[in-house]
Amino acid sequence: MTNTTWNREPRPARLEERLDDGVVRCRLSPRNCRIRPGQHGFCMVRANRDGRLVTLNYGRSVHATEETIETEAVFHYAPGARILSMGNVGCMLNCDYCHNWKTSQARHVEDKDVHHYTPEEVVDIAVRHGIEVISWTYNDPVVWHEFVVETAALAKAAGIVNLYKSAFFISGEAIEELIPVIDIFSVSIKSLDPKYYRRITKGWLEPVLEGTEQVFRAGRHVEVSTLMVTDLSDDEKTARDMAAFVGERLSPEVPTHFVRFHPDYKMTRTVRTPVDRLERARRAALDMGLHHVYLGNVYDTESTDTRCRRCGTLQVTRYGLSADLVGLDGDGDCAGCGAPAPLTLLPGARHRPRVAEPPSDEDLDVAHFDWHGDIRALHVQVRNASDAPARVYHRRYGDPAAAPDWDVIDLAPRESFRYIAAKSTPDETGVQVAVPRRCTSSLHQVFDRAHFPTVEADAGALNEDVSPLPLFRPRAGH
Ligand code: SF4
Repeated sequence: MTNTTWNREPRPARLEERLDDGVVRCRLSPRNCRIRPGQHGFCMVRANRDGRLVTLNYGRSVHATEETIETEAVFHYAPGARILSMGNVGCMLNCDYCHNWKTSQARHVEDKDVHHYTPEEVVDIAVRHGIEVISWTYNDPVVWHEFVVETAALAKAAGIVNLYKSAFFISGEAIEELIPVIDIFSVSIKSLDPKYYRRITKGWLEPVLEGTEQVFRAGRHVEVSTLMVTDLSDDEKTARDMAAFVGERLSPEVPTHFVRFHPDYKMTRTVRTPVDRLERARRAALDMGLHHVYLGNVYDTESTDTRCRRCGTLQVTRYGLSADLVGLDGDGDCAGCGAPAPLTLLPGARHRPRVAEPPSDEDLDVAHFDWHGDIRALHVQVRNASDAPARVYHRRYGDPAAAPDWDVIDLAPRESFRYIAAKSTPDETGVQVAVPRRCTSSLHQVFDRAHFPTVEADAGALNEDVSPLPLFRPRAGH
């Protein structure tokens, strides 16, 4: 990290406590790091400069990316909504299987992977692209607290919903600063075993549980998830412990997600979580009385659907990262029995504008990408290299029942934009992207969701189910 410049613009940090001899204590996470002048905390992005606590990653992010809300293990708020995902650098934990370790562990971060944003720019991207939810996510939003609090307030004033996806190893004091600006908390609880927390995450459990209760009691929308790590936490005991926590300290109505793991970081000599174990875990949690238990990062199962608790009507059907509202009436109640559905809806948050065909006079390069094996998601990065607005198009193919229209993405002059396209129906075979020749583009195939930074093809090999590395695939002709 010594040769990087992304961390060279320190800003005053909140939650500072000044101690003797120029030492400061950071009260952002339960670690309460005592930091001497010139040193930094465990997360490596908060430091002591001349006796004051500073943040080193204000506005320092991976590329802003459009995804869907299902990516964040949020199923009961605006199903299918497009979200703008913002991640940063650093983390207050160091989980052995981290899926975002190249950014969460700040020593690995290189300048080329860090983008600079202001709060105004983030809100502007969301507004221009008609995205109604900003998701504070990836490595972990806790460690860029100042940027989150300021930007989320600005977004809220613009009518945008804020989603906080976090391992939530955070102090109660910091949570109080989030509650006024965050609408949705998706909390990743790694396990209910204190020893597991110490050994695998390098944090501790109880503050995570207390924090989750705190936001739930404050009336915020809360969903919880557990990454079911193969042979480590993919058993029914983990599911039952999770169900006991949710049922007793939150509410049985809180949606609970068991998420499929893929090998990563220090845990690569293993395999993805067997789906039958996930299904058993789900059954165990339902048997404990939870109302809505879902699986994540899985396809071709009904365990991602939402059904009415009273009459069993299918209300939301999901496939991977896509969702369709199928069993609600015009008021958002159950179409079968009229009972209120357990869903908050955001009309208009779902689709981009669509056209039957791109204009015939547009000079477009068209790339095809076929879904294959476990690769059912694609990150598309496009950059408008011109000083005029540009239009990019994409559509799915292979499913005769799906609408053949093209989604439209409007790019401002010089804008760089990134979005995820994930397989959305069982019969769909791939996705087509049409980009004006004055734009550049690249396609990154990924498991499940974003993994940042993406790497180029010769930097790593994709090995079926085992390697988490995405591959860089330039568009033909580039
Ligand atoms: S955020 Fe946590 S890990 Fe980082 S300096 Fe503050 S107390 Fe330490």
